[in-house]
Amino acid sequence: MSAPIDPAAVVAAIRAVVGDAGRVPLHEPVLGDEERNLVAECVESGWVSSAGPFVERFERELARTTGARHAIATVNGTAALHVGLLGCGVAPGDAVVVPALTFVATANAVAHCGAVPHFADSEPRGLGLDPERLAGHLAETTERRGGACVDRRTGRRIAAVVAVHVLGHPADVAGLGAVCERFGLPLVEDAAAAIGTRCGGRHAGTLGRLGTLSFNGNKTITTGGGGAVLTDDDELAARVRHLATTGRLPHRWEVRHDVVAHNHRMPGLNAALGCAQLARLEELLAGQRRLADRYRAALSGLPGLASVEAPPWGTSNWWLSALALDDPAALEPVLAACHEDGLLVRPLWTPMHRLPMYADCPRAALPVAEDLARRLIALPSSATL
Ligand SMILES: *Cc1c(COP(=O)(O)O)cnc(C)c1O
Repeated sequence: MSAPIDPAAVVAAIRAVVGDAGRVPLHEPVLGDEERNLVAECVESGWVSSAGPFVERFERELARTTGARHAIATVNGTAALHVGLLGCGVAPGDAVVVPALTFVATANAVAHCGAVPHFADSEPRGLGLDPERLAGHLAETTERRGGACVDRRTGRRIAAVVAVHVLGHPADVAGLGAVCERFGLPLVEDAAAAIGTRCGGRHAGTLGRLGTLSFNGNKTITTGGGGAVLTDDDELAARVRHLATTGRLPHRWEVRHDVVAHNHRMPGLNAALGCAQLARLEELLAGQRRLADRYRAALSGLPGLASVEAPPWGTSNWWLSALALDDPAALEPVLAACHEDGLLVRPLWTPMHRLPMYADCPRAALPVAEDLARRLIALPSSATL
């Protein structure tokens, strides 16, 4: 028997942290004079579109912040993952392993490649893909054919594994890397919400073959809309850049293209905003961390729930603080009470295999993803709260 939950007490505990002031969004950007100044400077320079000094500067500063050798700025995180997967060789008809418990963009990026998402289960400590259960699933359902890892049932080649850093908590990338090595698969990290997150001392998105970030308005830092591909591999970086830049061949005046490609590059205007945001990253991370500490203290006395903690194998950026209910039956009443009070909390995502367009995709058993989706609630987590 789990302890009964009093939704009003949960609302009061959240209010004790975020204050009494009306509607509280899930995650709001922090913008100030520096953002205004750099965007104005960009407008005055004329370099507002898909090239120019601010894009180069943003990519350079992003590479320095993350320790990645290359950062390629894109129009959003979905586009980053899309061209990143293409760069890794994901092709029509392939399958790509992604967690069932993720934002829909992870699965969409796979589908945009003409490939099929293959859903795997999460582990409860870090909320990312479970390496042990993934290894078991692959051992049971795939075989090696001419160097490729092939799903015996569908005949599809499995082309990659995408780890997602859920809520900003680090996925078990070390464990997943070992599984990928064993099955000959490239590991890609969807680190969309994980700027500032570290696994074993390294920045999220830099531990696999390639990683991606998002700078959407609800992430830790924003460029309005934006994303980036991170990789240490020179050749892969060049391929991704080419695929994101209409496949145009470098030449002073000739306009020639050698591949069906995308127009996925970040405009200068967004990059200018990004440069200002990167300069305040540490301040924003400290704000999110402080908020998580205050939620932990405020929720600690309540029966029937616990704050969601980061796993021991890395450090979280605490993008979204969250609570876990013991009893899934309390989910609806708690969400309703919070929204009634103006607290714009939300459950994690509906697992991908429950969405109509992905309902028929191949998948492993998904008990943990199902369970987490029924019990976790993301809390208002703006860095300024
Ligand atoms: C935000 C997010 C994305 C998508 O990023 P966009 O910039 O909105 O396209 C992808 N994956 C995850 C896990 C995210 O949280």
